[in-house]
Amino acid sequence: MIFILNFMDFLNKYRKIVDGLVKKSFPELKRKKIIIEEKNTLKYRAHTEYSFSGFKIFISTQLRDFSEQKVKRILIHELCHLEIFLHQGFIWTNIEWFIYLISKRYRLNIEREANILMIKKGYGKLVLEARRENLKRRLGYSLTEKEIKSYAKSIKKW
Ligand SMILES: [Zn+2]
Repeated sequence: MIFILNFMDFLNKYRKIVDGLVKKSFPELKRKKIIIEEKNTLKYRAHTEYSFSGFKIFISTQLRDFSEQKVKRILIHELCHLEIFLHQGFIWTNIEWFIYLISKRYRLNIEREANILMIKKGYGKLVLEARRENLKRRLGYSLTEKEIKSYAKSIKKW
C-alpha cells in the first residue's frame, strides 16, 4: 500500500512537534498563537515572522524529507526566535527585520542570540550538530564550537 502524505499531514505533524516543544521548553509561548505555514522554497529551511496576525513559522517543503530529530532541531531554533520576539515586542522585531535584510553582521548577531537561547534551554548538543551541518554545507555559523561548549557548561545541562 502506498501512503501519500498531503501538506495537511505535514502541517499536522509540525503542529504536534511545535506544541510539544512549547509545552516542554517554551512556557512563555504557551498562550501565544503560532501560525505554521509551509512554503516551497530552497532558500531557507524555516523562518519566523511577527506579523499583525501573530507569530508565524514558515517551513520549507524540504523538511518533508528530514528526520523528525532534524525537524525538531530546526523548530527549536525558530521557537527561540519567537521567544526573543515576544520579549522585544512587535515594533522592534519588525524594525529589526529591515536591519536583518541589509546587514550581514546584524543577521549573524540575531542568529547568535537565538542559538545562545537554545543552548540555555538545554539544547547545546543540537546547536553543535547544527553548526557541524552548516559547515559541511559550506555555510557559516554564528557561534564557534568553543563558544557553544562554554555556554553549555555555564548552564550545567551539557
Ligand atoms: Zn534563525
